[in-house]
Amino acid sequence: MSFRALLLVLVLLLVPAGVLGGARVLGREVPMAYWGRDYVLRFPLADAGEGGGGAAAPLELPQVAGPDDPSRPLVVIDAGHGGRDPGAIGTDPEGRRVEEKAITLALALALRDELLRQGGVRVALTRSDDRILPLPYRPEIARRLEADLFVSIHADSAGEREEVSGASIYTLSNEASNEAAARFAARENDADRLNGITVKGQSAAVSAILVDLSQQRTQEEALAFAGLVLREGEGTLPFIPQPRRAAALAVLRAPDVPSVLFESGFVTNLTDRARLTTPEGRAQYAAVLGRAIRVYLARRAGAAASGE
Ligand code: ZN
Repeated sequence: MSFRALLLVLVLLLVPAGVLGGARVLGREVPMAYWGRDYVLRFPLADAGEGGGGAAAPLELPQVAGPDDPSRPLVVIDAGHGGRDPGAIGTDPEGRRVEEKAITLALALALRDELLRQGGVRVALTRSDDRILPLPYRPEIARRLEADLFVSIHADSAGEREEVSGASIYTLSNEASNEAAARFAARENDADRLNGITVKGQSAAVSAILVDLSQQRTQEEALAFAGLVLREGEGTLPFIPQPRRAAALAVLRAPDVPSVLFESGFVTNLTDRARLTTPEGRAQYAAVLGRAIRVYLARRAGAAASGE
């Protein structure tokens, strides 16, 4: 660990402690963040001590908003990038820097609020402020919370090609999906939950098959949701040509949580940027994604009720 890294760790640990300590002395409430209730203090170096798989993740789970009822469906919204990682960068007509990490967070919060307004669904954000969050933590949060859907929100850059605009939606590519399933099976043979199938204690071969089946179903559901986003967005959100994409994205590799990555638009395009950076524009995105999520969860509940 370099001196700089050490210093950063000290600052990360001491600043919140200092703020809280100071507040106690002064006897005041600290507005930790203006979206308050989802604020979680995370100490990235504290080992959560979860054994198995060699990938013990020192991650803390975010709070879940919405009804206090675990039988309600849970959507995990992931705001791409954050902290030192700004993501794609654009410049507005006044010469101000526009960063993807701020766009994704604002969109994630708008979507959360929309879902809570609709009611009946629980929502968690992988991050609810400007912080760095390692890529593997994001789907892992969804897995550990046993989410019904994982939506990672991003915005894109087309560099100098300012005319390029529109949204797109990614699911995990088949090759990546198969490969991820194989790797997951190898790594987490004793994982105890895969779409409700207990694989603990199974032989490696049986586990691999169960993981594979689970992943196939997960993929089908992710594709169905992607289709709903396009359908619900028609006429409201402009999409790029062939907006349905598949790629080997690490953030989509949860084998048992249907996961999509929504590229909301281009920070390098004037029209997209205006939609992405205004409350009115964000409301359009939130409404479209909110409708798609509602339909998706209703279908899923229907399928479960009919024993499919
Ligand atoms: Zn991104």
